[in-house]
Amino acid sequence: MAGVLDQATVSRIQQANDIVDVISEHVSLKKKGREMVGLCPFHDDHRPSFNVNPTKQIFKCFACSAGGDVFKFVQMRENLTFPQAIERLAERAGIKLERRRPTSHESRVTSDETDPNKLAKVNAWAAKYFQDNLRDQIKGKKARDYVTARKISPESEKKWQLGLAIDSPDDLIRAAKAKNVPPKLLDQAGLTAGPNQDKFVNRLMFPISDVTGRIIGFGGRTLDETGAKYINSPTTPLFDKSNCLYGLDQARHQIAASETAVVVEGYTDCIMAHQFGCTNVVATLGTSFTTGHARILRRYAKKVILVFDSDTAGLEAANRALEVCLSQRIDIKLASVPEGKDPCDFLLAAGKERFEKLLEQATDVFQFKWNRLTESFGRDDTLTGRKQAIEEFLQTVATALWAGNLAAIDRGLIVSRLSKIIGLDSKDINTELAKRMGRAAKAASYNVENRKVQSIDWGQGLSATAQREILEVLLNEPKLFETVKQKVAPEVFDVPILRQIAAILFEALNTDAGVSLKDILARIESVDVSNCLTELARAGEEKGNFQSRLTGAMDALAGYYAQKRKSQIKTITGDQTKFLRDVYENTERQNPRNLGMT
Ligand SMILES: [Zn+2]
Repeated sequence: MAGVLDQATVSRIQQANDIVDVISEHVSLKKKGREMVGLCPFHDDHRPSFNVNPTKQIFKCFACSAGGDVFKFVQMRENLTFPQAIERLAERAGIKLERRRPTSHESRVTSDETDPNKLAKVNAWAAKYFQDNLRDQIKGKKARDYVTARKISPESEKKWQLGLAIDSPDDLIRAAKAKNVPPKLLDQAGLTAGPNQDKFVNRLMFPISDVTGRIIGFGGRTLDETGAKYINSPTTPLFDKSNCLYGLDQARHQIAASETAVVVEGYTDCIMAHQFGCTNVVATLGTSFTTGHARILRRYAKKVILVFDSDTAGLEAANRALEVCLSQRIDIKLASVPEGKDPCDFLLAAGKERFEKLLEQATDVFQFKWNRLTESFGRDDTLTGRKQAIEEFLQTVATALWAGNLAAIDRGLIVSRLSKIIGLDSKDINTELAKRMGRAAKAASYNVENRKVQSIDWGQGLSATAQREILEVLLNEPKLFETVKQKVAPEVFDVPILRQIAAILFEALNTDAGVSLKDILARIESVDVSNCLTELARAGEEKGNFQSRLTGAMDALAGYYAQKRKSQIKTITGDQTKFLRDVYENTERQNPRNLGMT
């Protein structure tokens, strides 16, 4: 337990946050039997390995062994401590927590670490402050004129919480001081650029939310055309622009429903698309499309349509994004708006239907690449130029083949077309492709997201296996605890991770014989312990045969200790001696085979 709240409150918060609802904010889940499955957000998942059990209220990844209850999911997903996750989910469910003074240990731990919950609160406060500025009759006049000129409707302005950082170097800092917002938090949230210097000055403010809707950063557009046109919050513990997409919280339902995500570049492009009723649109935050973006979208969408400018820079950006998506095994198409227009202008000038038409007619990856290849052949007749163009094309085809994004029939067609244009034999092209597929696989393996889950040391030998079996059984058949506790004490478990779990489990079962898995998980602070416990529960469930497995495991354990007792009898003292004598006698009586160390 976190030591912050009583167990009853923790349970109440756990119950108020349905695990399927919470996880669905981050991963698109599909029903499969009694469970829900999706792509795991904790490893580079390409088949749905992530299972959520709505009845048990637990999740489990079969590939990376992440697992636990709703608190653990939030802890891992948002990098929070256990108390922070409790606080976060209490807030989500609208449960008020009584503030308790932190113990000296806790305050020492938290004093120099940033609390993401607090940063989100400061951001929410600042967003509200900026909004009030924009609505202010006098202060907000010029910015409101700009919003009107950009044809952003009052509804959109409200929905996207647009705001204004007025033309004064330290307006926000002074406002924060007046409201007793700690200056350190303002710094940590990236809202300052130095002492007495706001980060955002004279800018139209676009709050950036994470997928759960809390504000994690800001984008600001200049209102006097000085400095960069757009600036974003710096990277903070909450905000990393290469890993977040503007509008995802608003768009994710429609993206999941249509299995298609449309990606534009700018804030206003995204806002305007939603204003016109295209609600599966998100925006990158003035950065190029990253692997991080692709990974996020992959969890919600099967297909990505990238809308880009048809100028040279736009083409290059599209080309790079395409490579990223291919290597992430995303089906990507490209749609270009007529030159000189951004999607926002285009929507305003041409309307929703033509915009949708544009998306429908989006170019397939190979067509796009083919066009690039043939164009560069027409343009560049030097050997190097042509060679480069072919190389690029071949690599794309190889990546797609490796990722399973290209059917054999398409491969045949592409190879024969390519053979004609470059005058190389089909067989040679196929050999080249095979070589490059190896390269694609290698490149992808470098991209694997750092696993947040440690590999687990389950111990070795018969005794460790027996210990594991006992826990696996108890987690599925708690009523067998009566038998277990007469013969086995939690101290018998000598594999560190199993000992930790045994201690928690024995304590829980001693207080409540009918305790459920999620109740036990709600007592655990450590993500690693939670992963292991969920793994034990799952393995146990799969194996079944609880009674006979328990008997076998207890016999084996007793035999092991009997053996150990023979060799170490003199060094053993106290309670343990008594326990071992008991199990020894039991073993000789019940198990004539005496398994020993075999
Ligand atoms: Zn996983």
